[in-house]
Amino acid sequence: MSPPAAAGDPLPLDGRVVVIGAGLAGLRAAEALRAGGFSGSLELVGDEPHPPYDRPPLSKQVLAGTWPPERTTLVDGARLAELGIHHEPGRAAARLDAEARRVELEDGAVMEADGIVVATGARPRSLPGAGAGEQLVLRTLEDAAILRARVEGSAGAHVVVVGAGFIGSEVAATCKGLGCSVTVLEVARTPLVAALGEEVGAACASMHERNGVELRTGAAVVALTPLGPSGVAGPPAGEPPAGDGPAAGGSAGAPTQVELADGSSVRADVVVVGIGVVPTTGWLAGSGLTLDNGVVCDHALFAADGVVAAGDVARWSWRHDGREELVRIEHWQVAADAGAAAAAALLHGRAAAADFDPVPYFWSDQYGLKVQMVGHPGPTDEVEVVDGTLADERFVALYGRAGRLTGAVGIGRPRQLMAYRPLLVAGATWEEALRVHRG
Ligand code: FAD
Repeated sequence: MSPPAAAGDPLPLDGRVVVIGAGLAGLRAAEALRAGGFSGSLELVGDEPHPPYDRPPLSKQVLAGTWPPERTTLVDGARLAELGIHHEPGRAAARLDAEARRVELEDGAVMEADGIVVATGARPRSLPGAGAGEQLVLRTLEDAAILRARVEGSAGAHVVVVGAGFIGSEVAATCKGLGCSVTVLEVARTPLVAALGEEVGAACASMHERNGVELRTGAAVVALTPLGPSGVAGPPAGEPPAGDGPAAGGSAGAPTQVELADGSSVRADVVVVGIGVVPTTGWLAGSGLTLDNGVVCDHALFAADGVVAAGDVARWSWRHDGREELVRIEHWQVAADAGAAAAAALLHGRAAAADFDPVPYFWSDQYGLKVQMVGHPGPTDEVEVVDGTLADERFVALYGRAGRLTGAVGIGRPRQLMAYRPLLVAGATWEEALRVHRG
């Protein structure tokens, strides 16, 4: 390691970088450091027992059984060796001292570095205080294997998905495709309303009904009670672990009585909880970084001098459309772009680093259709459907605010939707966007 660089200095190219979190953002950061000329020592520290892999297929092809889990691998050992990226799976970081740029691993190893990339992602929320019934979640290859084992060959099994966000919706669609009967319970009156607004959220919701999945909105789950084989509630088995841990709850494989706030209940063979994620920042307590719904970063993804964050864990100060807001965006493309941008920021140094200013892109596959979003629409934006109709669930809807185009959402219209991306890159006005549509 080189002598500590002054605040804002570029990274010494022959120095040492430690990347914590071997997911998409961490891997892209390590690759971009090499592509940017970093020739020093490069450690990619990840707590999972696998080389970096891709999560989107977990709720799609892997759960459906059309891809073997190994196909999700993003990079193999040979390629990592070629890039000079040192990665030993299964090593967790326990502590960071941001000022000293020192990381301590759970196995006791200590790593001091010129630059640190924090890319520890997020973990699924579980339903707190819901009782002893089993709650499955979907974030890792192991989660996918457990869920797949529970639904594969179980045509007719009743799967209850708690949460009609994108992951819950994909799980519902995939399980339906496997022949399960599926109920989705969503606490909001309209799913995805915070991301897409009322009208488009409602169109996404009706995809479930049209495909034979029951969607109950305004449905708050208050308890998950394990049932014995006879369908009778079993003895209490204690509370599931609180907080942001993985699958919680007792009696693996036992049916569950899902009890709702309105007094009704639903019997489930499998309960999958998709109610969002919590950024993985527990290990950063006492690090000196600002933690507030993620690692708080400046415009260029710096969380401290020589320390950058990227991906689902990063909440950065985004200057765009004439305003500035702290955002954390849980999209594959944003995680990949942020990994590369965080590496570039380290290489240039804090004083010279460019703003991280992506055009966010997100997709989801449900019932054979692509649901896609570009830009960063808000729930109160003006919405205009410019192609197809909401009722047909095949459309492109534009979003605008204060005279500017803020985003576009499409279902079953991949080519038409992407035509609006260049307009978002160029910062088009609402009128310019509508003119494109009118020809
Ligand atoms: P992660 O992929 O979570 O990687 C972080 C890594 O850090 C993990 O391996 C974690 O175990 C590790 N880690 C955590 N703490 C420590 C520690 N203390 N020490 C060492 N390692 C640690 N996005 C889309 O745009 N479209 C989709 O269709 C889509 N589908 C998805 C489907 C599923 C099932 C899931 C779970 C996500 C999906 N996403 C999708 C979201 C997308 O996959 C994420 O935004 C992306 O994976 C984020 O990457 P990341 O590197 O920030 O975090």
